[in-house]
Amino acid sequence: MQRLNEHEKQRLIRLVQDLVGINSAIITPEQANRERTEERMAEFLTQYLRNMGMTVQRQEVFPGRPNLMAHWPGQGDKRSIMLEAHMDTVTVEGMTIDPFAAQVRDGKIWGRGTCDTKGNMAAFLTALDIAYRRNQLPADKLYFVATMSEETCCTGSAALMDHGFRTDAAIVGEATRCRLVTAHKAPLWLEIETNGRSCHASMPDHGINAIEMMARVIEFVQGPWNHHLQVREHPLLGKSTMQVTTVEGGSKINIIPSRCRIQVDGRIVPGRPIDEIVTEFHAMLAEHLRGMPFQILSQQSHPALDTPLDAPLVQKLMPLCREAAGQTAPLGVNYFADTGPFAQAGITSVLFGAGDIAQAHTAEEFLELDQLFLAAEIMLTLLTENAGMSIVEAT
Ligand SMILES: [Zn+2]
Repeated sequence: MQRLNEHEKQRLIRLVQDLVGINSAIITPEQANRERTEERMAEFLTQYLRNMGMTVQRQEVFPGRPNLMAHWPGQGDKRSIMLEAHMDTVTVEGMTIDPFAAQVRDGKIWGRGTCDTKGNMAAFLTALDIAYRRNQLPADKLYFVATMSEETCCTGSAALMDHGFRTDAAIVGEATRCRLVTAHKAPLWLEIETNGRSCHASMPDHGINAIEMMARVIEFVQGPWNHHLQVREHPLLGKSTMQVTTVEGGSKINIIPSRCRIQVDGRIVPGRPIDEIVTEFHAMLAEHLRGMPFQILSQQSHPALDTPLDAPLVQKLMPLCREAAGQTAPLGVNYFADTGPFAQAGITSVLFGAGDIAQAHTAEEFLELDQLFLAAEIMLTLLTENAGMSIVEAT
């Protein structure tokens, strides 16, 4: 394993402090558009990447809210790989530490984005920079990519794929405790409405109670539907889940309600198209309700991740994670990330990075320095061990 020296470690910490010092928090998409949330991060990074000798392309997703794609002119051929991290963070509201000071104490660096995911951005940049200056780069064309608006369901990475940007493989920087993650579930969000007929509650026979109808829907989701979903199991992710998370209906205590709405959160293991699952849900629910009227008002989902374990990138990164983090086999996680849109576009994608997802989005977000250094060292080793060779092609 390649190790960082003291000087390189101090530079890496300073870079994390510079990145965390730039506020790129998203409260709402509207606020982010108004305040051009990622602009200052993009300006800082553009300068930093140019100092590393890279050429920087910019995709303006919204004004002042770009994706950045950087590479060394003339470096690499045939195959390509990106090291990627998102520029935005979640809001700093409710934080009990200074979100932007990036103080170092107790072997940790504290602030919004240290763990999710500016620490990983800094680790990736450091590994790329050192490997480049040592002239030990792989034969693949290397890209560093910084996306906007990941925390709003991967807006930036989806826009990057729509734009047509492609590489053969991607390492997406998120907190995995320096372990290799090759699978995550697909979120599926449904909004369902039942429609009845209102009347005075003293004469219930004159109306149709939409809340009572919805009770049958909820019973279906909890019982037969979850049962049906959980027949299928993924080796790394286990079973799909689906939960009713909001309910809304009725207008007055003495009126039979004519309308009831619920929202349902599904986490679906990869292997079957989401549309097929929704069609099945609709058909089975209709049968369960025996003709009672309901509608699926909206359906939203994001792609899952299920990278083959024999992919060369997995085969090359896995031994390093084993050596450094004691990991025995690739992992699956329940959260989703920029890996979803990348994988859907045909890019062999994995998640890897410093820190624990338990610290992401918290009031006292921090990143352990040992994790930060280790992530940079694993990336540096991956690059330099494969100097002159391909990471994404079987050798
Ligand atoms: Zn993140």
